Amino acid sequence: MEKVLSLDIGASSIKSGLVDINGLISQEKKTIIKEESYNGFIEAVKSIMAGISEKPAGITAALPGGYDIEKDEIFAPNLHILNGKHIRNDLENIFDIKVMAENDANLAAYGEYVFGDKKSVKNMVFCTLGSGFGGGLILNGKLLQSNITLFEIGHMSIDFQGRQCGCGRRGCLDEYCSTSGLKEIYKNITGKEIAPVELGELASSGDSNALEAFKDYGRLLAGAFANMAALFCPDKIKYGGGLSELSMYYEEVMQEEFNKIIFPAYKGRVKIERAVLKNQAGMAGGAALFFGL
Ligand SMILES: [Zn+2]
Repeated sequence: MEKVLSLDIGASSIKSGLVDINGLISQEKKTIIKEESYNGFIEAVKSIMAGISEKPAGITAALPGGYDIEKDEIFAPNLHILNGKHIRNDLENIFDIKVMAENDANLAAYGEYVFGDKKSVKNMVFCTLGSGFGGGLILNGKLLQSNITLFEIGHMSIDFQGRQCGCGRRGCLDEYCSTSGLKEIYKNITGKEIAPVELGELASSGDSNALEAFKDYGRLLAGAFANMAALFCPDKIKYGGGLSELSMYYEEVMQEEFNKIIFPAYKGRVKIERAVLKNQAGMAGGAALFFGL
């Protein structure tokens, strides 16, 4: 069976795997980018290619930034080794193989959709809850794509006088529904700053402040999801990323609040679900796009 080599590119490492048309991933591994430069990145891809046991039909790259598909140009101001680079052209020239690239959250959205919801759902929003708040949109069964990465949902403002975001605006969801947002909520309650993993441990031991922080987080998330519902009443909103692993502490409050504040006419029409593919979604999505699924 034909397989594609899917790359999920991070700031200092690349996750990779061979993915078939059913989304099954084999030869999965993580490769460190040893030298912090574009050349170091290319060397890491070369070592991945040299390490796989069969020649893939092509390569897909999930990018941690925006991407202009027409100009083949990466927009990643916070990741200088890739910013402005022409990854498709460069990898095609080096490996003489077809290459496709797209933003990582967009590909994760498509992977979740194609290998989980395609049969029953037409319109879906996918959000990643992690160090940032990213996402992708499936409209009429297709990933919404353009010559620049679309659906920068993390930069939808919920308070125009709110916290300063790295993008230049204020009050972006990226500052509230991400790990730093959760940390800020806990800090406002206790004056202390701790990592989300520790917060999860505290919550599991029944710590009331930690549990309260997660509930506040759940209410914020409900607000974000209700905003998305207002845009086009999707069949489903799915959420993944690191913070989705802690959803047992905020899921119920989030769902309750969402039901309360969703635009009344859309009540009962938008399902919220946790993602299933975890950190493989980007790789699966790359393959789905490549195979035209
Ligand atoms: Zn922003």
